[in-house]
Amino acid sequence: MLEIDNLSVAYGSVRALAGVSISLGVNEFVSIIGPNGAGKTTLLKAICNAVPWQGGDIRIDGKSIRGLAPWDIARMGIAHVPEGRRVFGQMTVEENLLVGGMTRRVNKGRLDDVYTLFPRLLALRKRRSVTMSGGEQQMLAIGRALMSKPRLLMLDEPSMGLAPLLVEQVFHHITELFKGSELSVLLIEQRVTEALEASQRSYVLEQGRVAISGDAGAMLNNADIQKAYLGMGADA
Ligand code: ATP
Repeated sequence: MLEIDNLSVAYGSVRALAGVSISLGVNEFVSIIGPNGAGKTTLLKAICNAVPWQGGDIRIDGKSIRGLAPWDIARMGIAHVPEGRRVFGQMTVEENLLVGGMTRRVNKGRLDDVYTLFPRLLALRKRRSVTMSGGEQQMLAIGRALMSKPRLLMLDEPSMGLAPLLVEQVFHHITELFKGSELSVLLIEQRVTEALEASQRSYVLEQGRVAISGDAGAMLNNADIQKAYLGMGADA
């Protein structure tokens, strides 16, 4: 459903992506891993047309999204959970969720569906979201994105700033919501083990280029990845 073909993005003289090609199928879970500054966030922003691209193409269902407004892309069923969560702090949990449902016409049962997925949000539905923990806010940010009933959910470092137990919970939720649904997931993460365990395929971005890609399970056992990202020496 998503094809990124030889994509290049620069911020002035800073080259963030240099000829990146990535694909994602219907009901596929793909992760993008890589060090700080590799271009991961830029990639997600480009898929929302939130940054201009200078070269290459991005196609959804075979059609180029070049020139489309970000809200047109959201209406195509593409939802983006940005880095740092960005929930509306002064609004309640339920108000945040209702805002998420405004981009596409969704049926009224959607709120109940999200509460079924995240019972914690139901318990907190009248709370102002600024008073919630980081993990709860992350669940709210994901719940808000799901309100539009997306076909593709893009998550930018959902583990950022969370304690290890909360990271585990957030990954558990992401894995559960992918299972048995028709959703495709594109996950950006610096937590390499968790990302490779959760996803089916993965790409390693380094300095704006795809350095390695393949089956996520095989990549977990790849010596180069273990050495570079999992803190394991060659003899580990
Ligand atoms: P991190 O894991 O630290 O969030 P990342 O892999 O998501 O990093 P990007 O945020 O996409 O990387 O940044 C890629 C490159 O583009 C970096 O060199 C960064 O400094 C640069 N960059 C990102 N945003 C801007 C901007 N608005 N203006 C100028 N340069 C930028």
